[in-house]
Amino acid sequence: MLLRVNGGHLSPRGPSGVPALLPVMGFCLYLLTLLLLLCLCTAQWCYQKQNCDDECKDPSRWPVQFPRCGGSHQSPVNIVSRKVQLNSSLPPFSFIGHVDAINVTVKNNGHYAHFGLPESVRLAGGGLPGHYRAFRFHFHWGGGSGRPGSEHTIDGERYPMELHIVHIKEPFHSLEEAEQDTAGIALLAFLFEETAADHPHLDSIIAALGRAKYNGSNTVIPNFRLNDIIPAAKDLHSYYRYVGSMTTPGCEQAVEWTVFHRTLSISSRQLDAIVAQCQFWTGQPMTDIYRPTQPLDGRVVYSSKSGTPQKRVTHLWISVFSGFLIIVTLTH
Ligand SMILES: [Zn+2]
Repeated sequence: MLLRVNGGHLSPRGPSGVPALLPVMGFCLYLLTLLLLLCLCTAQWCYQKQNCDDECKDPSRWPVQFPRCGGSHQSPVNIVSRKVQLNSSLPPFSFIGHVDAINVTVKNNGHYAHFGLPESVRLAGGGLPGHYRAFRFHFHWGGGSGRPGSEHTIDGERYPMELHIVHIKEPFHSLEEAEQDTAGIALLAFLFEETAADHPHLDSIIAALGRAKYNGSNTVIPNFRLNDIIPAAKDLHSYYRYVGSMTTPGCEQAVEWTVFHRTLSISSRQLDAIVAQCQFWTGQPMTDIYRPTQPLDGRVVYSSKSGTPQKRVTHLWISVFSGFLIIVTLTH
């Protein structure tokens, strides 16, 4: 190889006059592209059931790429009802804008689908340190009616599905700002219980998910009301409270968690339908989108009222009352 002075620049040339470094540069470009692709992949994360390859991180390896996921105040957790501390001073919530008809934008981000909420939907009370505005909501599910997929578990029991409504503390305007405050985010969690009858308002959500099937696709649900899917604040006085984190990377420890005792209903038909609508960024069916429970590490879970998820208690009282009626009938 010769180096020739050409127009004031040193130019490497081969014997034929063709620049000899071209193949080398081509190879370097190939290596750079490969590295870029590798970086893009290592920045990705997966859920456990996605069977990630070595480059992409399943939940046990999230802390490698996202160090905060290895923190000591992580979510979700298993709530052990006999260890919960009763805190009867935890007040009820006030919901603002939950009855208003709004247009909700639904977006598949390749990991889950989220539903954007306007700033007019707000939250106060509930023993939270300030007022919060709604940001968006999303669901965590398993594999349909046969495989539960809630993130929080109660006494080790996983529920079929879980709804998270993400709220940002005022006056923050973005999730990134709110994540800098240890109580910058208020997350409301509702566990679903499988029922024989359909939930009357979930079919519009299932249909919208079907229109946001692929990574990056989005759609709108017009005239949506948040109180169509969750009860009024007056019916939600019983809840668990603890401090934790976001349950997806970067797992920021900035969340005041509220897990309501009252469960929401979903039929087996709707459960099977909801898990069949979307695809992950990898093209696989979007199922089993939940993070395994994390250690409490000395944190205390408080409860505003005694008891466990309300529907189960109601079932128990119905059983006791029915038994009592049968005894009275038989003895007369
Ligand atoms: Zn969530």
